[in-house]
Amino acid sequence: MIGAGPAGFYCADQLLGQGFEVDLYDVLPTPFGLVRAGVAPDHPKIKSVTRVYEKTAAKPGFRFFGGVELGSDVQREDLLERYHAVIYAVGTAADNKLGIPGEDRPGSHAATEFVAWYNGHPDFADHEFDLTASRAVVIGNGNVAIDVARMLVLDPDEVRPTDTADHAVAGLAAAQVEHVIMLGRRGPAQAAFTNPELRELGELARADVIVNPEEVELDAHSAAWLESEGEPTNRRNVEILREYAQRPPGSKSHRIELRFLRSPLEVIGDDDGPVSALRVMRNRIEPDESGRLRAVPTGEEEVIECGLVMRSIGYRGNPLPGVPFDERRGLIRNDGGRVTDEEGAPLAGEYAVGWIKRGPSGVIGTNKKDAADTVARIAEDVEAGRLNEPRVDDPEECHRWLSRRIPGLVTWEGWQAIDTHEQGLGEPQGRPRVKLVRVPEMISIAERRS
Ligand code: NAP
Repeated sequence: MIGAGPAGFYCADQLLGQGFEVDLYDVLPTPFGLVRAGVAPDHPKIKSVTRVYEKTAAKPGFRFFGGVELGSDVQREDLLERYHAVIYAVGTAADNKLGIPGEDRPGSHAATEFVAWYNGHPDFADHEFDLTASRAVVIGNGNVAIDVARMLVLDPDEVRPTDTADHAVAGLAAAQVEHVIMLGRRGPAQAAFTNPELRELGELARADVIVNPEEVELDAHSAAWLESEGEPTNRRNVEILREYAQRPPGSKSHRIELRFLRSPLEVIGDDDGPVSALRVMRNRIEPDESGRLRAVPTGEEEVIECGLVMRSIGYRGNPLPGVPFDERRGLIRNDGGRVTDEEGAPLAGEYAVGWIKRGPSGVIGTNKKDAADTVARIAEDVEAGRLNEPRVDDPEECHRWLSRRIPGLVTWEGWQAIDTHEQGLGEPQGRPRVKLVRVPEMISIAERRS
């Protein structure tokens, strides 16, 4: 199994239950994927799902190999020589692009990078975010956009007791952002937020939530859609937003404002200089031929002055060397979890699970069902004798091979040493942990136990 995030762990657990032995690989010395490096640090309850994964790791037949990159440290062919099944659970690490001028100018960031930075992902520990602007725009109407907007205005006293990386605790405390504008290209009825996350925006200690009443007046198409086909989540989102629109003006020092029906056209600034504004197009909602409600430009433009832009418009996968990839969808080419070639024929013993299989949607628990579907395909292939036939079928030899090849290989015991060390650093500060953000330091702590 390649990738020790939620999908990898749920899949590993179900395979262990079916009598398989599972080696779970990760490129980082630490497990848990987006639970460690994605879930917002002020949501410790969501992060506590790692206890479930720890139970999986304690089961006989489970091994963790951290610090192993597929494509550089080991190749797909190496794994197919050693395993009956190789399952890709690598998630979707890249960000979608807006494809507009100025997108990459200083002060315009992918939300993925900001999230990875405040969560202490080693690859982003040296990123610099200039948070001195007083107004920021967050583009996108999903839960990641909500996380980013909220983190920008949390009171430093709310950030300090969390496991936010130390560099980000300091960076966020010094931030001067007072006004965050969240932009949706479609309307309130089409927002991708889930209800608890949207509700939380209205309960922040030092930020008021602002929605102009005219922003939540629904067009006829959206009103009819909400009535007939809209999910309860969509209806409830609209209710919550209407409640926000009726709130009397607040007096908190910070504010998060939601604006809808606006698509970014250009990130404005001087020459190669930093962001000074965002030019947007006002949209209206219209159904396309399939009946899906889409944003259509009205021709009316606006300029929103701001010094920081966070682009939070979804993720896409990075291709893995040698593994069939659907460029259009940004996912591993697969049929219900079976990796397939260009013609759609399944490749023996190769599977996908989680976001790299179905796309970046749903909550953590969605990956449990997703894993069950892939494991059902594996079980069918076991029955039909369609698994891969490895040349080396010896788990001990596999461990020796990896240890020879990767000097800093981190086992589960090594991760437990890192975990204990981080928690020990956090304890005197009343924090769940202080995250290590340097891979060499993680490896040296892990080697005390590996
Ligand atoms: P998401 O839910 O898919 O939202 C992406 C947003 O970007 C949508 O509002 C989409 O609008 C918008 N968008 C896409 N392309 C755009 C463009 N070119 N211009 C303007 N807007 C554009 O993605 P996400 O926020 O990255 O979240 C990923 C998944 O993680 C979701 O399932 C989410 O619920 C989950 N998550 C959950 C939590 C939590 O439970 N607390 C926290 C974080 C993330 P359209 O609808 O118009 O396409």
